[in-house]
Amino acid sequence: MTYLEERIRKDGVICPGNVLKIDSFLNQQIDPQVMKEVAGDFYRHFKDRGISKILTIEASGIAPAIMLAAELNVPMVFAKKAKPSTMEGQDHYSKDIYSYTKKTWSQVVVSKDYLKKEDSVLIIDDFLANGEASMGLVDLVSQAGAQVAGIGICVEKSFQPGRQRLEEAGLEVYSIVRIAGIDWEKQEIYFKEGH
Ligand code: 5GP
Repeated sequence: MTYLEERIRKDGVICPGNVLKIDSFLNQQIDPQVMKEVAGDFYRHFKDRGISKILTIEASGIAPAIMLAAELNVPMVFAKKAKPSTMEGQDHYSKDIYSYTKKTWSQVVVSKDYLKKEDSVLIIDDFLANGEASMGLVDLVSQAGAQVAGIGICVEKSFQPGRQRLEEAGLEVYSIVRIAGIDWEKQEIYFKEGH
């Protein structure tokens, strides 16, 4: 059992709608030791891929992404969920992304200064469900003419179609924890082997 699975078993709260709440160590309060272990795991898997940049989406992808960026010694960029007034005209890439937990669309933006065609980009996120967030980030990388080196996910809900969508698009997904199913009534989480 990995440290992350152990922590989910101990502190994870199952919410309606196949949502797993891990606010006590990742989604609101952040446990830096867990983030260090997550980053170490991603590092061992992706270290020889020539990654030049890490891309994630605010807010919950930032913690694992920055810890990994420090290990790989590359910059970390996060896509913003609302276009700030400092981003004008054509100086950014944008994509509309549907949020699984908020059930709303947001226009997600990244400045053209921080994604370049020579970049080999590793995408990192906290959860993978239907793949909307990850596919949206892949689209931003393509707009820049850059390459996606892979996708690293902290918690994959394997009973939802995100992984399959990404793999069908020819992308490698590496997840630290995979969840085969969630039973809200029994308050049970079923884990799946492999990454
Ligand atoms: P997707 O875009 O793959 O459908 O969903 C992934 C995004 O939705 C993640 O960035 C994450 O913020 C959120 N998300 C999806 N499922 C869960 C979940 O079970 N728990 C939490 N806390 N966030 C989730």
